[in-house]
This record gives sequence, structure tokens and C-alpha cells, in this order.
Amino acid sequence: MNKNFNKPQQNKMIDSTDALLRNSIAVTNKNKVTNNETNKNKQKKSNQKISTLQRGKISHVRNKMHSKHRLGSNVNQKQSTNQDHIEVKTKTKINPNAVRIIPLGGQEEVGRNMTIFETGNDIVLLDMGLQFPEEDMPGIDYIIPNISYLKGKERKIRAVIFSHGHLDHIGAAPILLEKLNYPLVIGSDLTLALVKNRLEDYKKGSAKKLKTLTLKNLNTSVPLGKFTAKFFAVEHSIADAVGLILETPEGSIIHPGDWTIEKNPTAGKQPITYEHLKNVKRPSILMLESLGINYNKERIPEATMMKNLNMLVEQAPGRIIIGTFSSQVERVKQVIEYAGNIGKKVALDGYSMKLNVKVSQELGYIKPHKGTLINIDQIADYPNNKIVVICTGAQGESNAVLSRIIAGNHKNIKIRKEDTIVFSSSVIPGNERSIQRLKDNLYRICDNVIHSDIMDVHTGGHSTKTEIREILNEIKPNFFIPVYANHYMLKETQKLAVEEGFTKEQVPILDNGSIFEIYQGKYKQINDTVNTDYVFVDGLGVGDISNVVLRDRQVMSSDGMLVVIATVDRKHGNLVNNPDLISRGFIYMKESKKLVEDTRKKAIEILKDEDPRTAAQQTYIKDKLRNELGKFLFQKTQRRPMILPVIIEV
Ligand SMILES: [Zn+2]
Repeated sequence: MNKNFNKPQQNKMIDSTDALLRNSIAVTNKNKVTNNETNKNKQKKSNQKISTLQRGKISHVRNKMHSKHRLGSNVNQKQSTNQDHIEVKTKTKINPNAVRIIPLGGQEEVGRNMTIFETGNDIVLLDMGLQFPEEDMPGIDYIIPNISYLKGKERKIRAVIFSHGHLDHIGAAPILLEKLNYPLVIGSDLTLALVKNRLEDYKKGSAKKLKTLTLKNLNTSVPLGKFTAKFFAVEHSIADAVGLILETPEGSIIHPGDWTIEKNPTAGKQPITYEHLKNVKRPSILMLESLGINYNKERIPEATMMKNLNMLVEQAPGRIIIGTFSSQVERVKQVIEYAGNIGKKVALDGYSMKLNVKVSQELGYIKPHKGTLINIDQIADYPNNKIVVICTGAQGESNAVLSRIIAGNHKNIKIRKEDTIVFSSSVIPGNERSIQRLKDNLYRICDNVIHSDIMDVHTGGHSTKTEIREILNEIKPNFFIPVYANHYMLKETQKLAVEEGFTKEQVPILDNGSIFEIYQGKYKQINDTVNTDYVFVDGLGVGDISNVVLRDRQVMSSDGMLVVIATVDRKHGNLVNNPDLISRGFIYMKESKKLVEDTRKKAIEILKDEDPRTAAQQTYIKDKLRNELGKFLFQKTQRRPMILPVIIEV
């Protein structure tokens, strides 16, 4: 996955991601009845909302059903003095000697990637990614994997391996590593540098607590209890991506993280191949990121794309402004170096863009010519045709740099007709409209706008169907588990594998929390799951936002709220004054006098004391107001504002 490296609290995550991130909202529920054609859009939105809520509920119920024998938090785990013995009281028998694969995330969505490998007293973790919030999660910064299964097992964690530095693989590291008492982390130079940066961003000084093993040489093999970790180079849209070969007592597990095959790499780079993976210790299980299964178009070779970009940089009659994902470190590097070669200056803008380039420069991945990089506030000091700006925001995110430039709100850049603007990124589903609007605005003020419909100026970091087929045939694993994608993609990948001669049983589809067990050559998915409920991060709070809070936010953001303040007699419960109404985001009261009056009348009617002999009952009155006024307002407006009764007793 391509991700930008943002400071989440600042940017609210909008400057995110890669394709397919937001397409996990299924539009399924058709319960809400609307007769009005014009309400269609609203209808669609609300359907999405309901469906996600229901999904939340479903997962909650499912988890409840399992809670008696769910592993992890609810399990009575006897602390045995003999460390060789694990006693776990669950309905399902856990075989301590089996090798278990447990994905905590990444099997039902794009993001939140994290996988547990466990046998005996040894646990190895791969990746700690975050998931970006969906549209119906107002205020949520991001979601992290739920690690309740690992509670009490911290001492068994031999290492956390990070495949590469994208946020859906390292984004949750600051929170989770701290919770797990900072186990050993393993990764390549750039990846670990990015992990450390993220830790420091989250809590100053926390990077010092990290115990790290940097993979200087991929031929290293690292013993981790009963596991041995080996590594291999992987082609992806960020430098230094590594794949994992985990040797276990039951054979090898191969996991490339995110991957692609690049047959035409840019000059000076050797193509990375995966054929050697057929030689791992058998039997082998291949866990393969399958995000690109539905890409039907052939991927554009990196070299073609770079040739086009270089040509644009060279021939731009004025300034050239390139919007891309900051995680496209490789592309950014190429542009900086090429611009330097032809004597142009490069200014970077966007928090994550500057951070990634700084880290890459420190590690020697990007070697700009002396004087090539300039500050964004220096661009006026050079002729226009000498200026290249690389910035974030090609997804139309309202706060990101490119949007600010186009809206005329950027301090240093005002677009001129002769400037060239390049969108070098894929469109994340869900962002189409913002990007469209951005382009429309741009075409009004600039003559040279380039995007992938016009020229190949983007190529993704994930493999297509053809490449998945190719790697399956090259490696010929004994088992194949598609991972790191939405459920429908996993199923499509399974279909493809069956076409290639695998049996369905050889290609299990795991959900988040599924437990896949291998013992004495036998493979099975055991009838139990571990807790993978959402853990929301909002500001400084981790896991303190529940579904209830989220639902309130959803209601308020879609239909607003109405506060009803009623003063009642404590002894008898009758209304003392006419109730006061306050609307926020529901109606504009000054222009809805009739509705306000009708609502007030209705409230008086609802609050009419039924039995003057009894005292006022707060809960009863509040519930009645909420229900009946809610019905009344829906009849009148087809909206469901949150109704907040405030009862003052006198
Ligand atoms: Zn990635």
C-alpha cells in the first residue's frame, strides 16, 4: 500500500493513501423508505451508514457469541511455572505445539495489517498498520489492530518484523509497541527510520526505548525461538521493502508484505525476482497481498512512467508542480535527481513529503545534487522554468498542499497559466468527486494539466491479476493464503488460484481474527476467533471511543441535534414553563418558525402530566420526549436529529 506519512492529529488523515482504501463500505441496507426522488443521494449515504453500523453490530454480536471461549482477553490463562506448558482454557482445544497464523487485521479491509505467528512459547509479529477511518466515522483519526489476544503474552514475543514503511504497515507501531513493552523490532534501514520517526512524533523520547535489528544484509537469518526469520527483497513503491520467510517446525511461511513485479525498472536498478522462493523449506505457505487482483489494465512499467515525468519536468515552459503520494519515495527520488541533472530546483511541500525525503536523504536513498533542493519560500528567487514543486494532495484533500495551491490559499505559490500541474497518483475510490472538482478548478486557471487519462504519470505498487498468477506458478506453494485486501478480493484471488490448479482447501480465506493451525502436516482453520473489534484512535485517546459514541457522531453529523429544555414541577411532574428549543445543525430556527412552534406544541403535549399524584420521573420523561418528538419530527421533515432532553426540576 502506498501511504503518506502524516502527523495524524494534525492532518486528520485526509492526506492519505493509495487506491482502494475507501471502497470497503458496502451498500446493502434498504430499510429506510424514501419516496422522494431528490432524496436519493441522501438515501444512499444513509444506507451506507446503516450498513456500516450494522456491520459493527454484527461483529459485536459475533464476538459476543464467541466471548465465552474467545482467546485472549477472556481466557483464563494459568501462569504455569513450567514455561514449556501453555494451558489455555477455551472450548476449542489449542494445541501448543501447532504453528498458528492469526491475522489481526488486513483480511477484511485495506489497512490495519498485522499478523501473529505463534508456536509453543514463541510469537513473531509481522507489521503493525493502521486503517484510515471510513466516511461514517466522524472525528476518528485512525483505527489500530486489537491486540487483546497478546495480553499476558508479551514475554513470548520474540520480534516484530516490519515489511516496509507504509502507514498501513507501521502506523500503529507507536501505540502497540508501547503496549507490548517494546519487543525487538526488525526491518530495513529506511523502514526502521520511518518507524522511529513515527514513534518520536507520537511521544518524544520513545524511539530510544526501541530495540532494533536492522537488516543490512538480506542473507541474515535470525533465530526467534522455534522460528527462524529469513528475508528477501521485494519490489514496491517504497524503497527497502522486505519479504519474510518464516521457517517453522511445520515448514516455511512466505510473506512478501506488499509487492509487485517490475520487469522494466528505472535505469540502474536490477529487476527483483521471486523465483528463488520455490526453494524454501517445504511444505510452504504463501501469504500473498492480493490488492491488485481486480486491476485488469496492465501495469505501466516504472520506466515508461518515469520517462514521461522526466520529459514533463524538462519541457515545462513555466513552473511544474507534481502532486503525488509522499510514500512514493522512489518516484520523488527520481524526479529530484533528474531535475538536478538538468539544472532545475526542487521545492518540497507537505509535512509527510518533507519528512520522507529528509529520512531518505539521511540514509542515502536520495542523493540530490548540491543546491537542487530549495525551500518553498525561495521559489520566487529563480526563473519560473527552473522550478519543480513536489507536493502532497493529489487526492483533492481539502487541507493538503495541492488543493491549497489550486484554491489560491498557498503562501508561496499562485498558479499561472503557463505552469504545468501533474497528478501523479491513482484515484482512491471515494475521492473521485473531490479530484474532479480540483481538476475543474485547475483547468480554469492553468493551461497544462496532466493526469493519467492523458499520460502515464502513475503506476501502482501492487500486483495485477497476471502477476499474482505468475508468482503462484513460480513459487508453487503447498498452501496459499491471500491477504492484505478486502474480502471480495481475497475470494477473487482464491478463484484465480483454483484456475491455476490449487484445490479450494489449499487456498483458505481467513477473516480478521481467524486462527489457522498447522500440526504434523495437517492444516485447519479452528472453530474460534480472537477479538479484532475496532480500536479507534481519536486525538490522544486510544480505544476510548465506542460504537455508541460513533453512532451519536453519525446522527449529529447527518441530521443535527435538537435540545429540548423543559422545567417541571418536582412534586407533581407537570410542566412549569413552555419548553425551550435549541437547534444545532438540524434546522435554521429563524426561518422555520412554524416548525419550531409546532414542535414546541408537540413537546407540551408530550410533557402533559398524566398523573399529578406522582413525582416527576426524569428517565421516563426523557425517553418519552426522545421517542415521540423523534417520530413527530421525522414525519414533518424526514430527518432524524438527535434529541437531547434537558429536564430541570423546580
Ligand atoms: Zn505498501
